[in-house]
Amino acid sequence: MDTATVQSEFLQQLFAHRLLIPSGVDGLYGRGTWFERVVEGIDAAVQRIGAPDNAEALHFPPVVTQHNYQLSEHFKSFPDLVGVVRGFRGKDKDHLALVEKMERGEDWAANFGPTGVIMTPAACYPIYPTLKGTIPPEGKRVTVLSYCFRYEPSLDPARLQMFRQREHVRIGTPDDVREFAATWKARGEQLFKELSLDSWSDVANDPFFGRVGKMLAANQRDQGLKFELLVPITSREKPTACCSFNYHQDHFGHLFEIKLPTGEWAHTACVGFGLERTTLALFKTHGFDVEKWPATVRERLKL
Ligand code: ATP
Ligand code: ZN
Repeated sequence: MDTATVQSEFLQQLFAHRLLIPSGVDGLYGRGTWFERVVEGIDAAVQRIGAPDNAEALHFPPVVTQHNYQLSEHFKSFPDLVGVVRGFRGKDKDHLALVEKMERGEDWAANFGPTGVIMTPAACYPIYPTLKGTIPPEGKRVTVLSYCFRYEPSLDPARLQMFRQREHVRIGTPDDVREFAATWKARGEQLFKELSLDSWSDVANDPFFGRVGKMLAANQRDQGLKFELLVPITSREKPTACCSFNYHQDHFGHLFEIKLPTGEWAHTACVGFGLERTTLALFKTHGFDVEKWPATVRERLKL
């Protein structure tokens, strides 16, 4: 069976088992009772293995301000993925015109203007702007769970337009970041092993946009700045990243003016667990009925 068929059949099965609920738009789904229980189980398991870090837990709505979005320079690399929120600021007659356009089935997008709000592209984005200034000598550790939006409609259930990432973020020296990477790689591998997932790690690159993007991607790979824990959801030949580690060097430190006590820009890195993807990997591996999953896996997720 070809990749697209495997993916769309899996999606139909997830609908049939009420694990995902269709909305009429590819990549935007409701979550069923058991799907969500597994998501919560994975998140709790990640938080248990990360507990020794004592990271500060922050919570943000799944949007970033336009100001901070622009500072992040996300648009330079991923203009094709971003979602911009628009709003209506018209008067009565504009409202009437809008309703008429909608009723005639015409394009009404122009009747909505900018709100200054952008959908969060990755869970860690709202954190960096809050850290402006000099961080303590031991650096900072923050953890965040957020829905993220990426405009990548697909029939692959593992490529959603809205999905959650549990992230842990380290802000400090290059050495702090190296230690963080090694620790979380081992933790992630151990967790996936305990969940009886067939998983392996590999260096990776982000889907940078356009011709310049090809160079950025090659550079990211050469420097080993990104690695992923891969699990077969579609197939072993086309494995899916369920956990990604990104080392940003001093990119965000510089853009958001986060300094080490030495006066140098802080380095940052994050590890992100894709909660829906890991959930899908479990359903694919162990079947649609959680009650029939191996006891060790259920125990690990407290299901
Ligand atoms: P990919 O290369 O597969 O698009 P990514 O490497 O760009 O993913 P990151 O930006 O590093 O992913 O995001 C961290 C984690 O978020 C990934 O490991 C994955 O589990 C999850 N993730 C990313 N994109 C999606 C998506 N479209 N749908 C569901 N989960 C996603
Ligand atoms: Zn991140």
